[in-house]
Amino acid sequence: MNSNQCSFCGKKRNEVQMLISGNNGFICEECIEQAHGIVKETSTAAGSVSTEKIEDLKKPKEIKEFLDQYVIGQDQAKKQLSVAVYNHYKRLLHAKDENREVEIEKSNVIMIGETGTGKTLLAKSIARELNVPFCIVDATILTEAGYVGEDVESILSRLLMVADYDVEKAEKGIVFIDEIDKIARKSDNPSITRDVSGEGVQQGLLKLLEGSIVNVPPQGGRKHPDQKYIQVNTQNILFIAGGAFDGIKEIIERRLNKQAIGFSAEKLNKIEEEEYILSQLNAIDLRKFGLIPELLGRFPIITYLDKLTKETMIRIMKEPKNSIVNQFVELFKMDGVQLEFTDEGLESIVEETMEKGLGARGLRGTTEKVLEDYMFNIAAQKKVVIDRENTLF
Ligand code: ADP
Repeated sequence: MNSNQCSFCGKKRNEVQMLISGNNGFICEECIEQAHGIVKETSTAAGSVSTEKIEDLKKPKEIKEFLDQYVIGQDQAKKQLSVAVYNHYKRLLHAKDENREVEIEKSNVIMIGETGTGKTLLAKSIARELNVPFCIVDATILTEAGYVGEDVESILSRLLMVADYDVEKAEKGIVFIDEIDKIARKSDNPSITRDVSGEGVQQGLLKLLEGSIVNVPPQGGRKHPDQKYIQVNTQNILFIAGGAFDGIKEIIERRLNKQAIGFSAEKLNKIEEEEYILSQLNAIDLRKFGLIPELLGRFPIITYLDKLTKETMIRIMKEPKNSIVNQFVELFKMDGVQLEFTDEGLESIVEETMEKGLGARGLRGTTEKVLEDYMFNIAAQKKVVIDRENTLF
């Protein structure tokens, strides 16, 4: 063994930046880089994204079952999303068929629902199931090119970053665009003056959504310090957009004509009536809200999330795989303390949270507050029971 050269390429110590020694040889940084590339390529080829046969794809029912472990309720949204994802991957398979005559277009999804009802959680869970790169961007930080703020291309920079600059992997990823409702046109009339925050950004998003090759600034990309732009093809990137769309219910009502609703919703209670109205949601309403028709055309699947009821919130506390209850029980267990929540205790935490109007997002904060003193004096007792009495502030 020659300690003065790379055992792989034979380069001398003075020709390379570093030589790392092993049991029986040396390797230089260039060979490490190359070997790493080969390992990565092989492992992506075996990854779940590059399924070759239709039989290997998870069916919508299986995808939904997976989502059920993390997301409580929201059956309609889970169903639609499972189908959309399944079709998306079928489309990828189809695109590989050289004899195909029909081009299947991509189906991006738009999710409408109040804050904290599980929109982000759904998108995140889907990405976890598919084992593809996933990133969340807030539409409000985006601006038209040339204005202060981030260009739409920055969305792809983030996706590249989470894909560790593996372009091929990023090109099959999922992007969640949050607060899409905040870039709605402010009024229904196309304005003569330019609308910086809204319509321009919607226009900018079009080119990403429709599937094209986009030049992406690497933004601190370690691997391409000398390369100015990375080209990313967005054709197979699935875009899921979400927003609260405050006031959409009234828009739907107006379209449906209230009397007609009154007639068909006669026997429904308030919550059922609201669900019925939201179930009638379509692209016309979103257009009225201020999304431009071209953008809506790129989001053929529109789904809505139900308001969280007290019962659903209680289930969210206990049922998901990593539910809040399970997390704290585990945390207390580490100190040998047994933590229990009674049904009344949970109900009280939920009631307190609902008053804050943060949706299920607020549950953790309320629970932290309730448990604060017990956590501070963690070793004081062997068992802690959270009942209605010790949840009152
Ligand atoms: P948003 O609809 O605003 O995107 P999120 O998905 O971010 O809401 O939800 C915030 C948090 O609330 C999630 O991380 C999760 O812990 C909880 N949550 C919200 N909805 C649900 C749900 N349907 N099932 C389980 N947990 C939920």
